[in-house]
Amino acid sequence: ELETTGDMGSQIMVFVRLRPMGKKEEETGSRTCVRIVNKKDVYLTEFASETDYLRLKRVRGRHFCFDASFPESTSQQEVYSTTTAELVEGVLRGRNGSVFCYGATGAGKTYTMLGTIENPGVMVLAIKDLFSKIRQRSFDGKHSVLLSYLEVYNETVRDLLSPGRPLVLREDKQTTVEERMSSMEGQVADLRNMIKKMLEVHNQTEASVARSGEGRSTNSEIRREEEEGIMAAGLTQYRAYSTDEVMQLLLQGNRNRTTEPTRVNETSSRSHAILQVVAEYQVKDSVNVITRLGKLSLIDLAGSERALATDLRTQRSIEGANINRSLLALSSCINALVEGKRHIPYRNSKLTQLLKDSLGGPCNTVMIANISPSNLSFNETQNTLHWADRAKEI
Ligand code: ADP
Ligand code: MG
Repeated sequence: ELETTGDMGSQIMVFVRLRPMGKKEEETGSRTCVRIVNKKDVYLTEFASETDYLRLKRVRGRHFCFDASFPESTSQQEVYSTTTAELVEGVLRGRNGSVFCYGATGAGKTYTMLGTIENPGVMVLAIKDLFSKIRQRSFDGKHSVLLSYLEVYNETVRDLLSPGRPLVLREDKQTTVEERMSSMEGQVADLRNMIKKMLEVHNQTEASVARSGEGRSTNSEIRREEEEGIMAAGLTQYRAYSTDEVMQLLLQGNRNRTTEPTRVNETSSRSHAILQVVAEYQVKDSVNVITRLGKLSLIDLAGSERALATDLRTQRSIEGANINRSLLALSSCINALVEGKRHIPYRNSKLTQLLKDSLGGPCNTVMIANISPSNLSFNETQNTLHWADRAKEI
């Protein structure tokens, strides 16, 4: 049976995920100010004031309603199934999709997207599902799953899987599938080889610490070889074979994300991580062989707190303050889409340029707004819920 790409409109779904109260928050005696009242509604309670702790007076509350709202206890699998599984189906029909995690630093974006080895998140579950769906349908022609993992930090784009020079974004021409395929072929690297190389480099580094000398020269040869690949082809796409490999790869990629100079072990709150998964395969009917190409973008956005705090300033002072241009541009694009404007300002940032084909046009977009339950994060939570509420209208 030959599947079709279905309707051509774009669709956005908006979800909220409430994370459990953290240990530190519990210790400082913070109170819960958000509840998920049923599967869709979020209830936000405002206390009289932060310093008015003796009265603990609840003054106002507000309801928000989303496509689904996930309470603290929700499993990673459930979040994946409700938010993203349908997009993976779409990708197999050649329809692009994107999933964003939005919210303040510490609200649970990276947990939702990447997760842990024990509890893998949306990125890994999506690829696992993609593999199993491809297997179930037993596409008899060629098929492959290609991955790239990027970072946008301070309007600089980097390859998280082959750290090196910043990548230059080229204008995305209207290309045929064949052109895209053939241009991609030059850039495909084998994930198995890459992991093998990573291990080799690791082992040799250890050996060279012990022996010093030979190990190092082999090391730099390997590195040079990889750099040449990147320079020639720009972004590298890795051909993936199994879910286990992918988790390793993404964990490694995440370690390559930019950190703040003062807190080297923590990922910068201004770093956006974008995983792009391209599923490529052939569908046959009695007469034709058709090559399908679908792209899924999974995005762990920078912390929203700074963008929101400066939202009301002019463009000039925003740039002066060096806050997150990509996040603001994403908000502007979403506003423009909400208002049905004809001009959508994709060009204003690297992030929106990269995601141009996944925001407007025929594609599925999912927003997961991550929030903390603590009243200490009340302002961020309120801002995130307002933002998500607005995104709903697209
Ligand atoms: P962000 O990426 O938005 O800054 P993180 O995903 O790093 O936030 O989450 C902050 C902390 O809360 C981490 O220690 C993370 O493991 C924990 N956490 C977040 N969401 C959950 C959840 N749903 N269940 C359990 N722990 C969570
Ligand atoms: Mg994070």
